[in-house]
Amino acid sequence: MIVARTVAALRDVLRERRVGSIGLVPTMGALHEGHLSLVRAARGESDTVVMSIFVNPTQFNEASDLAAYPRTEERDLELAAAGGVDVVFAPDAAEIYPAGFATTVSVTGVVAESLEGAERGRGHFDGVATVVSKLLLAALPDSAYFGAKDAQQVAVVRRMVADLGIPVRIVVCPTSRDDDGLARSSRNARLSPGDRARALAIPRALAEVTDAVASGVCDPRALRARAESVLAHAEIQPEYVAFVDPGTFEPVASVADATLVAIAARVGDVRLIDNTVLTPGHTVPARGGA
Ligand code: AMP
Repeated sequence: MIVARTVAALRDVLRERRVGSIGLVPTMGALHEGHLSLVRAARGESDTVVMSIFVNPTQFNEASDLAAYPRTEERDLELAAAGGVDVVFAPDAAEIYPAGFATTVSVTGVVAESLEGAERGRGHFDGVATVVSKLLLAALPDSAYFGAKDAQQVAVVRRMVADLGIPVRIVVCPTSRDDDGLARSSRNARLSPGDRARALAIPRALAEVTDAVASGVCDPRALRARAESVLAHAEIQPEYVAFVDPGTFEPVASVADATLVAIAARVGDVRLIDNTVLTPGHTVPARGGA
């Protein structure tokens, strides 16, 4: 496995590999099974798999969250190599944001300004869109792989890629969960054992909503009340429990078509997000083991 620290080095490595297909898996490191599931998807369809590892400072709205973000590069490189990554792109901040950097890619509208955009502030998805466009331009992959856990990030990236005409296929991989249902996240490592147990109320709330939709409930207010009651039992007050169109993130008046239910909540001092897609008559439950 090759480790490239600069865009120039990455392009050098990829130049001769462009005869085949290139798959890019963007990450912020602290790799876990969720990231590796993206690598497996990329490995299955690409001749060369590139993983970027970059803790992007511009998408953090809290300095303390950025400071506390786990950085485990040595272990990440071992996991990436064992997972079948060919090239890791691991730049430092000055490589991505050199002195004088003055450009922001900003997706506007509900897709970027609601939910995570509202809670974390405008800068969050500006940071995501800017760094993802830089990574796509650096690697020029045929396909880029993202996790459904960050559903709004997927919607923002899709919007940006369509609007800018970036020639890349966006592939979305299912949320990887621990056996008990908790969505895998680099931030889970910061949960105390007690808070980790309480956090299970989040996938339970999603499962409750999924079951309610399967039994014919389609009013988002009734569904939200059920989710909030499951969360309240674990003393979790969510930042939001939202029912939205998965592409536009416009709120839905009724769960009549495929609808994303998304939850954000702070458990202890760790902010967690999770979601699932509700399809009346056919639902994908947020249960463990994947
Ligand atoms: P991150 O390192 O948290 O920025 O995540 C890098 C990529 O991995 C993003 O596309 C995430 O959506 C994806 N990812 C993170 N956690 C999971 C998970 N539990 N299941 C699937 N994909 C995930």
